[in-house]
Amino acid sequence: MKTGDEDTLVFVGTSDLAGIVRGKSFPKSEWKKRCTNGVGWTPTNVQITCFDSISESPFGALGDLALIPDPQTRIQVDIANRPLDFSLGNICSLEGKPWTFCTRSLAQRALEEFHHTTQAHVLAAFEHEFQIKGLSPRPGDAFGLKGFRDAQSWAEPLLAALRETDCAPDTFMKEYGPAQYELTNKPSSGITAADNAVILRVLADDIIRGFGVTPSFSPILNPEGVGNGVHIHFSFLDAEGAPLTYDAENPYGMSTLTRHFIGGLLKYLDQILAILAPSEISYLRLTPHRWSAAFNNLGYRDREASVRICPVSARDEKTRAGQYNFEIRAVDAACSPHLAFAALLFAGTQGIKDKIEPPEPTQQDLSLKSSQELADMGFKRLPQSLSEALDLFSASDVARNWFTDEFVDVYVAHKRGELAQLEGLEWSEKCDRYKGVY
Ligand code: GLU
Ligand code: MG
Repeated sequence: MKTGDEDTLVFVGTSDLAGIVRGKSFPKSEWKKRCTNGVGWTPTNVQITCFDSISESPFGALGDLALIPDPQTRIQVDIANRPLDFSLGNICSLEGKPWTFCTRSLAQRALEEFHHTTQAHVLAAFEHEFQIKGLSPRPGDAFGLKGFRDAQSWAEPLLAALRETDCAPDTFMKEYGPAQYELTNKPSSGITAADNAVILRVLADDIIRGFGVTPSFSPILNPEGVGNGVHIHFSFLDAEGAPLTYDAENPYGMSTLTRHFIGGLLKYLDQILAILAPSEISYLRLTPHRWSAAFNNLGYRDREASVRICPVSARDEKTRAGQYNFEIRAVDAACSPHLAFAALLFAGTQGIKDKIEPPEPTQQDLSLKSSQELADMGFKRLPQSLSEALDLFSASDVARNWFTDEFVDVYVAHKRGELAQLEGLEWSEKCDRYKGVY
């Protein structure tokens, strides 16, 4: 029997506080109507944790909202004869106002504030690492050809599917860890950058599973293992599309805009870490010598830094200016890309408003310094547990100002409820719980 537009379904989703895509579907024939009216959504859904428990909610059984698709985000991809018609949406009140806890609306508000403050536009790309679950480590596999060949059968269809969307793939490689891969997409403008990170995770999971193996984007699969990071690359453009990130006069190439944005990021990093690295096991990854981020330092050609100025290959100044970008490495895929993007933009914009200077790039192993030496150099060890990071987020006046009091309190309650689900477990069991989700 042939299926018509009434029978095929469009899924509209939100990337929620747990970084999970949740939503509802409706017949394709209703697309136009649903783009105005949306689908019904429930306030307490915001407290559904990554383990599907429900954390303490101020809403109880009360209230109604609408999840409204944004046609800009719609993807229609035919995955092995299982077409996926998917769109991201914004959660709004029934009067059409952005809801305080809608992650995408928060990111849009943060972008507006950045633009209002700087008149500049943001380009960003989310670089994802993940591992194939359940494979035994094979010596000699780091960056190896064999691991690349294992993956080619699913990697090529995945990249082809991404090319059908606005999330254009850039590079794909076998990473260092066991069955670990890295997928990078090309930078995109504004909210599309975070939308693309969601789309990349959705398509990667869906397509790779079609080949009989299952990827995990979880921050770390076992306590002794390598971490899976999300490195978010940023650069800035003016209204005509000319690059604003680079200045040849600065010894590290940072323009004033870049310096102050990074200054804000590093000053407030510990206060927003609960958003960027939002699982209990995220803090196993954020330890020294894992090439992730343990201190609020700036790295220049150094992969052990929270913010790294990335190398550029071009020799001529004009191309250098276009390629020049920096990445935030303290992020993992337990986060909602929209929420992480909002937090980084809020902190960076604050840095621009207050003209905060970043520290000198480090070129040494900060883990060898005492806390006094670190403090003298202007650095802090980042929070070492989610609980500590939540305390800092909760106590942060700036975070309350950016996100609203209501948001901060609900987010902290959400994550405390998630932590309660893990009480009494061994670290390896906690890793297994998260591996089952992300
Ligand atoms: N796996 C490292 C992380 O957790 C990053 C390694 C790299 O690509 O430099 O962020
Ligand atoms: Mg990598």
